Amino acid sequence: MKGIQDGVAVVTGGGSGIGRQSSLRFADEGAKVVVADVDADGGHETAEIIESDGGDATFVETDVTDSDDVAAMVQTALDEYGGLDFAHNNAGIAREGSRLADYDEDEWDQMIDVNLKGVWRCLKAEIPEMTERGGGAIVNTSSVAGVSANGSAHYAASKHGVIGLTRRATVDYADDGIRFNAVCPGVIDTPMVQQAGEDNTEELERITAGIPAGRLGDPQEIADTVVWLCSEEASYVMGQPIVIDGGLLVQ
Ligand code: NAD
Repeated sequence: MKGIQDGVAVVTGGGSGIGRQSSLRFADEGAKVVVADVDADGGHETAEIIESDGGDATFVETDVTDSDDVAAMVQTALDEYGGLDFAHNNAGIAREGSRLADYDEDEWDQMIDVNLKGVWRCLKAEIPEMTERGGGAIVNTSSVAGVSANGSAHYAASKHGVIGLTRRATVDYADDGIRFNAVCPGVIDTPMVQQAGEDNTEELERITAGIPAGRLGDPQEIADTVVWLCSEEASYVMGQPIVIDGGLLVQ
């Protein structure tokens, strides 16, 4: 893909699932990758896979609910690789929900803090560096729950919010040469979904049966879109929530 080679990418939630695959995909295209995750084992493993395949990667332990961690993540890109060109703000959690009025404030706050405010903290740290460099491209991970009533109320609210941030940032920073888009995965075969499937096998089978593609998505299918959105081939794609769901939402 045009324009990725020799660039510098940060990926949050890079230690597992979708973020691991986008880290590997950026590296395959010749980018240097800062893998960020609160899970040190998974994050180190992703960086080691990239290095053992001949790529360049650095792991930095990062909790996206901590502004100092997020600042240190961006600083790692500057110290190790001299700048920042691409970001995939992807770290997230999913939790069982209740009907909207039955949440307690702590569980609501935790979801928003990771999935929505975590993306905002990343944008806040990344944008000034990209502005300084003359531009960049950022992809935030939303969900089909960001464009529909799928998912629990707190998860859906957080993922709708990610699309709002993506749209607003597009308007605010177009003049700085930064493009923002969001990916909205359907049901993707990652540890997050595997865990949910173990907790409730029948529910996952029911959901899978309703996907026109007839299967779960592969994290690679999200990663390919993320890196394409950062490439010059997507130069006129701005502020979009891109749904990648095997047709789940068309019915
Ligand atoms: P995953 O659980 O495999 O990976 C998520 C990663 O995020 C983990 O490595 C985890 O340690 C990390 N993480 C969690 N909290 C963090 C924090 N506070 N700071 C830093 N890292 C943190 O899940 P996944 O399926 O790869 O999910 C990645 C993203 O995709 C999430 O935002 C999720 O909401 C979204 N998503 C997933 C699906 C799906 O079906 N798998 C569908 C739609 C959206």
